[in-house]
Amino acid sequence: MLALSLMAAFAAHAATGPEFDAQRLSHDVKVLSSDEFEGRGPNTAGETKTVNYLIEQFKAAGLQPGGDIVKGQRSWTQDVPLGRFEIKGPVTLSVSDGKTVQPLKQGDDLAVRAAMNGAKLVDFKNAPLVFVGYGVTAPERQWDDFKGQDLKGKLAVVLINDPDFETGQGDFGGKAMTYYGRWTYKYEEMARRGALGTIIVHETAPASYGWNTVKNSNTNVMYDIVRKQPQQAHAPMEAWIQRDLAVDLFKRGGLDFEALKKQAQTRDFKPAELKGVTLSAKYAVDAQVIVSKNVAARVAGAKSPNETVIYSGHWDHLGVGLPDAKGDKIYNGAVDNGTGIAALLELARAYGKAPKPARSVVFLAVTAEEKGLLGSEYYAANPLYPLATTVGVINMDALSPHGVARNFTISGSARLDLLDQLVAKARQWNLVYAPDPKPEAGHFFRSDHFPFAKRGVPAISYGSGDDLVDGGLAAGHKIEESYVTNNYHQPSDEWSADWSFAGMSHDLGMLYALGRDLADSTAWPNWSKDAEFRAARDATAAKRK
Ligand SMILES: [Zn+2]
Repeated sequence: MLALSLMAAFAAHAATGPEFDAQRLSHDVKVLSSDEFEGRGPNTAGETKTVNYLIEQFKAAGLQPGGDIVKGQRSWTQDVPLGRFEIKGPVTLSVSDGKTVQPLKQGDDLAVRAAMNGAKLVDFKNAPLVFVGYGVTAPERQWDDFKGQDLKGKLAVVLINDPDFETGQGDFGGKAMTYYGRWTYKYEEMARRGALGTIIVHETAPASYGWNTVKNSNTNVMYDIVRKQPQQAHAPMEAWIQRDLAVDLFKRGGLDFEALKKQAQTRDFKPAELKGVTLSAKYAVDAQVIVSKNVAARVAGAKSPNETVIYSGHWDHLGVGLPDAKGDKIYNGAVDNGTGIAALLELARAYGKAPKPARSVVFLAVTAEEKGLLGSEYYAANPLYPLATTVGVINMDALSPHGVARNFTISGSARLDLLDQLVAKARQWNLVYAPDPKPEAGHFFRSDHFPFAKRGVPAISYGSGDDLVDGGLAAGHKIEESYVTNNYHQPSDEWSADWSFAGMSHDLGMLYALGRDLADSTAWPNWSKDAEFRAARDATAAKRK
């Protein structure tokens, strides 16, 4: 009986909702990840091909241009100027405890990023070090690690993750990471406080990755959106330090690292200076500006066109890079994120055919996700449609091209009405919500919905399930592990004729229905009361009356 009623439910939605075609999904992924598109690197010939293909498909779907206004008319794209920053020449680093001067090695002792505050040269001598605990200011949690500490001309030494990571229970979501735990937050907070620099102490468990990851992602070329006042977002020095070296410096400065770390897990923590210990640094930075593009297509709402639902995904991938063992240099990015873009196009086609929704729906293909969520950050900082009246964002990144699953997930953990609505909707598609099994890794902050979330817009990244109808969790996990080991961010992330795309075409029905419900309603979903993004949303409540 149960099986029959489920079949009936399945037949009911399939009969009323639009169809999502597995063959078209496959075709789009195949084109986007072909060698001809050169791995879709921003500001390359591959970008031009990708952007043109997307515009062509959006046009064919019957959508309107939703991008920058050029001569009074919407274009299909939004220009995204990006700063490109690279350390040029040697990085000279040393610490002194007043008795001896110890040279430090870039990449081994410290991982220093190219400065993104606009400086061509970072050069300072004997800057004091102040330990600021987790470096958190969270008024909604009555938490302030700084206690009025002045950081001008000083280097803030800070712990990674948030104050309740170690104990697993407290005011910061227990094991799960709040935004206060993310390294981006630490850098932003110290820049706001006018510090000379941020030095994050690397510890593998709370960071969720080893020193190699820190080294590789901080010592190469850096990108940022072009900012009017970059010094408000970036202190002159941004760096990580090896844990053992930090512990030693604390000791030389008369402090006990472990004891202070314990204190930092309480509200009573006060910043502590490493007495007599200073750091000197000198390195030159080459800064360039490149221009990439977000692509935006729109269905104008019939009743409330100024209210907007956004579907998004990043079109970029890693481009051409170091060759793999077979000599392949093109990082095709079929799964990451050919799949999300194919899904975006299929959704656009469905909206193009359906009756007009009450609110507007925007299909946003963003650039430079792989360089640090920069296309979505640029959009959220320079929105084409006001964020206050953006109802919600449904992002898609690296979906599974395989069979139908019994479950689905979102990137990271968060509490918001939009997720509750998705979970409810999923029942009609026989899909169960499977929460992120590793919320302490902070995946919520690592996908393109996040720049919206940070500014209060309800936003999530949908993720494919792993409990396959055909083969269960065992089959799902096998596929996932194989992808992570053999293909993720490698030239071998290539399209395959074996992919059925059955799971995506099934789940797209649910994502369509979620967005469609939002677009046809007058409701404004919000964050839960204790979410760190609730205050930003509530600040613009008057604009949603
Ligand atoms: Zn991706």
